[in-house]
Amino acid sequence: MRQPRRILFLAVSLLTACIALPTRAGVQTVNLRGKSYIPLQNIAAYYGMTASAPSRKRIRLQNKWNQIEFQTDSRSLWINGTLVSLNEPTLKLGRKWAINVADFNKTIEPAVRPKQFLKTAGIRVVVLDPGHGGDDNGASSPRNVQEKLVVLDVAKRVKKRLEAAGINVELTRESDRAMALSSRCSKAAALNADLFVSIHANSAANRKVRGIETFILSLPGRYSSNSYGDSTPSLTVNPGNRYDLANMALGYRLQQNLIKATGQEDRGVKRARFEVLRDAPCPAALVEVAFLVAFLSNAEDEAMVIDAAGRDRIARGIADGITAYLTDAKRAKEK
Ligand SMILES: [Zn+2]
Repeated sequence: MRQPRRILFLAVSLLTACIALPTRAGVQTVNLRGKSYIPLQNIAAYYGMTASAPSRKRIRLQNKWNQIEFQTDSRSLWINGTLVSLNEPTLKLGRKWAINVADFNKTIEPAVRPKQFLKTAGIRVVVLDPGHGGDDNGASSPRNVQEKLVVLDVAKRVKKRLEAAGINVELTRESDRAMALSSRCSKAAALNADLFVSIHANSAANRKVRGIETFILSLPGRYSSNSYGDSTPSLTVNPGNRYDLANMALGYRLQQNLIKATGQEDRGVKRARFEVLRDAPCPAALVEVAFLVAFLSNAEDEAMVIDAAGRDRIARGIADGITAYLTDAKRAKEK
């Protein structure tokens, strides 16, 4: 006789969970231009934040722990001062602002409340992936600073720092040798990676472009940050999309700590469909630590990576970002 009651109880629990899930955040959505949006006043109420307007186009939400700043008609968002690229611009309609639901769920929430989303995140093995190698130099600077060598040096410095803190770290390559993109993720999988960070230096056609950016995998059906509005975004769900929430938590911590350690220009957490992000067997991010382009490099960025102390600051930023993420994940498990 107890069995049916137990089943009924289970059914009711499941039903409650289903109903509770969309409103777990307690944030009501509205339909605008055929898409689901959340008014910022609802987000403020949910986080217990107060709103202020630092300028005509900016609105800031703030509580004791976090500060989020939005800009009208812009995909730029600042979480505790760190730039993050939204999937869709913040809208202002009359006197009210709103953001896309996906941006609340998958951009803001994992950065602001990482502990809620990292309960099952692994914390044992960190795999670092120095980009390029062998015949593939990657980007190079006017003084022939080669990306493949800079990122290998930085990766080894990160490893040393993390190992000193008792963290288990592996590299996809330990020397200047060629490595296919596809074998980087398979190597990470073979090493049972819990966390994967690919390290690169960037290139741009404009020598004034400088700074550091961190990429995480684009969401299915959403634009990559640097090709917003180009064509219909891919609907493909990649293996890396299993970790969308942890990817954001990791990307945010990396970018935040890289800017803190280096003082370089903050180019933000962005989204892209790079192969090493698509096929990652665990939460993953790709950091672009400087701009190097033959004849066109940004002089300050080049100086930073030529200098061993500069590379060490970059390494400290990456190591601190990884440590902050692992601390978030450990705290998530304690609750
Ligand atoms: Zn590269």
